[in-house]
Amino acid sequence: MLEVSDLQVNYGAAPAIWDVSLKVEPGELVCVVGPNGAGKSTLINVIAGLHRARGGRLAFNGQEITQLAPHRFCGAGIAIVPEGRRLFTGMTVLENLEIGSYLPAAKAHRSQTLEHVLTLFPALQQKLHDPAGSLSGGQQQMVAIGRAMMSRPQLLLLDEPSLGLAPLVVQHMFTAIRGINEGGTSVLLVEQNVAMAMQIARRAYVLEEGRIVAEGLAGELMDRPEIQRAYLGLE
Ligand code: ATP
Repeated sequence: MLEVSDLQVNYGAAPAIWDVSLKVEPGELVCVVGPNGAGKSTLINVIAGLHRARGGRLAFNGQEITQLAPHRFCGAGIAIVPEGRRLFTGMTVLENLEIGSYLPAAKAHRSQTLEHVLTLFPALQQKLHDPAGSLSGGQQQMVAIGRAMMSRPQLLLLDEPSLGLAPLVVQHMFTAIRGINEGGTSVLLVEQNVAMAMQIARRAYVLEEGRIVAEGLAGELMDRPEIQRAYLGLE
C-alpha cells in the first residue's frame, strides 16, 4: 500500500533522513520507533505531504506520490494526526471533527463516519459542543485522531499519540488505535513509547539518527537484547 524507497530529507543543508526504505501492506499496523531527534516526525511528515523529500520515492497504492501537491495527500487516502494534535482550540469538538471531512467524498458520509468516531471514542459524545481547548489532553488526542478518521483514510499516520498522556490514558489510546486498524484502516505509528507501540504493531522499524537500524516483526524485535537494552530499560 505504502512504499517508501531510499528517502532522503534535509533541513537546508542538514540531512535529517538518509536512505530510508519502508513499507506498509494493506491492513497492517506498522510502527517506527526511535529516540528523540531520530527523524520520526520528519519521516511521517514527508509521507503526509507536509515536507518535501530531497531524494527517493514515495508510492501509494502503486502510484508515485513523491511530487504530489501537499493538499492532494488527504484526497489520495492518507491522513495524519500530527505531533501536538494541532486542534483548533477555540472551535467546538464537532467543528474540529467536521473539518476532517471537508473533501466531497468524505462529506457525503459525514454523519456515518461521525457515528463511527463516536463509537471509537464515546467520551467525545458529551463534549461535541464544548471548545476543543477545554478538553483534557487525552480527550484532545481523541479529537485529533477522530478528525483524521473523518476523512475516511486508507492509511492513518500517527505522530507520537502518547506524548504527555498518563499511562492509563495511553493504554486507552492504543486500544482505540488497534480498533481503528482492525476496522480495516492501515496504520503507520511513530512513537518514543517503544513498549506500547510494539505491543500493538505487527511490524516495526527502528530509526536512529535518520537511518533505519533494525526492522522486523514487532515480537521478534522485542526479543533482541540490543533493543531491550536501548529501548526497554532491560539488561
Ligand atoms: P521528536 O521525538 O523530538 O519529535 P523525531 O524523532 O521526531 O524527534 P525530528 O523532529 O524529525 O525527530 O527531527 C530530526 C532532526 O531534524 C533533528 O536533528 C532535528 O533537530 C532536525 N529538525 C527537525 N525539524 C527541523 C526544522 N524545521 N529545521 C531544522 N532542523 C529540524
